[in-house]
Amino acid sequence: MRIGVASFSHETCTFCPDPTTIERLEPGARRGEEVLEGTRGIPSYINGFIEVAEEEKAELVPILSVGMAPGPYTSWLDRECFDKYADEIATGLAEAGDLHGVLLALHGAMAVKSILKPEAEIVRRVRSAVGDIPIMVTLDLHANEDHELTDASDAVFVIKTYPHVDSEETGIIAARCMVQTLRGEFTPTQALRRPGIVSASIYQASDFHPMKDLYDLCREWEKRDDVFCVSVAPGYAYSDVPDIGMSVIAVTDDDQELAEEIAENVSKRAWSLREALNRPLPRPREGVAEVIRLVEEGNRPIVIADGADRTGDSTHILEELLRQEAENFAVPGISDPDVARDLESSAQEGDEVTVTVGGWASEHSGDPVELTGVIEYMGRPRFTLVGPMRKGTRVQDGLAIRLNLGSNRHVVISERMRGSNDSAGLTSVGVDIDSLDIIVLKSRVHHRAFWDHVAAVDFPMDAPGIGPADLTTLTYEHVPEGIYPISAE
Ligand SMILES: [Zn+2]
Repeated sequence: MRIGVASFSHETCTFCPDPTTIERLEPGARRGEEVLEGTRGIPSYINGFIEVAEEEKAELVPILSVGMAPGPYTSWLDRECFDKYADEIATGLAEAGDLHGVLLALHGAMAVKSILKPEAEIVRRVRSAVGDIPIMVTLDLHANEDHELTDASDAVFVIKTYPHVDSEETGIIAARCMVQTLRGEFTPTQALRRPGIVSASIYQASDFHPMKDLYDLCREWEKRDDVFCVSVAPGYAYSDVPDIGMSVIAVTDDDQELAEEIAENVSKRAWSLREALNRPLPRPREGVAEVIRLVEEGNRPIVIADGADRTGDSTHILEELLRQEAENFAVPGISDPDVARDLESSAQEGDEVTVTVGGWASEHSGDPVELTGVIEYMGRPRFTLVGPMRKGTRVQDGLAIRLNLGSNRHVVISERMRGSNDSAGLTSVGVDIDSLDIIVLKSRVHHRAFWDHVAAVDFPMDAPGIGPADLTTLTYEHVPEGIYPISAE
């Protein structure tokens, strides 16, 4: 049993300023055996494929893996970039010869201006290269998909956790489905529904209402022997594409009617939850005041999730923390490469400096903020991720400079966006986590896999930005009628 494997995965924030190009993606590309070796042992879709292949003595034929690069989110892939990698996958699979099936780890929120349904196009190109063999796809739950993808593929499987901690499990489910299909034990049959809802990522945490209700319903359906997998992808709101928003996909064993019934059932439940998926969040001024009040009551530390910042330079929340005289806080990254490099060449650890940082990447980023503090760390930290997401991954960070502003207030000025999904991003620059009352993360939900075990309160705020919670503040061009809350009441 020979199964081709490839991954071309990008979450494209079309509201971001910089295009996604070959130059940006190529440094992270892996080819041939490296596709498997680079991910072995680290939780991922491909590691899930590897586990099943080893168990079942199937041969994996790895072609290419390419996707998100570290740093700020980027905008539309240019056509050259899409064609290069999509065609490399198709050609590589064709040249591999004699394949029995293909497993593709895609994302679902890739955006290419001239190809508005890129994941479906990848599958079609693979289909024309390999012919009529099973092609199965794994997706991130931030996927924007419609019938084009389910029409082109044999089965689609979407992760069910946000923070994403089940990519390996989803890889295993897809690979098992592939193996059983190739043995003739299973006939994958899928149905898709689109309830017509889009929501900000910050509302999509899978352990909480409303998404938990939907995943519980999926798992209920999955208890049936003839149901292989039921997926809900709530979608990715920051890609301005025609198939934006939630999709429900059910995969059954040769039962189209049942697949349609399940997809319809879950889709209807989702529609009833549309308001909970778009409830208002506090703005920085009232939010920071509330956080300070919670700290005074003894709740510490509090994690503020600045979900809107996709470029890493937003100052709205930092400005409020300074204005309202918060103490004992850390911001693990305000991205400002110019200021970081200037400091590297003109100052050293122990110096007191005054700098003006942030607020440069977009009109949504807020004003640059003046900071005076002592440099307590300057360097390019290396660390290993310790949280449940991609635990064990080694990170070589860009330049990071931590200023202590006094009163145990720490701001890291960084060469690139720093998310800090776990504590390593802070401890690697010398921050004592236990001393903090407030931690500001440029994150929506991923940080919760780690920080919910540490923080007294997770406090999402809706600061202005490229990825706001209130989607009606964005201007969409490609979204059709009937998508709540953008184009439907
Ligand atoms: Zn995601």
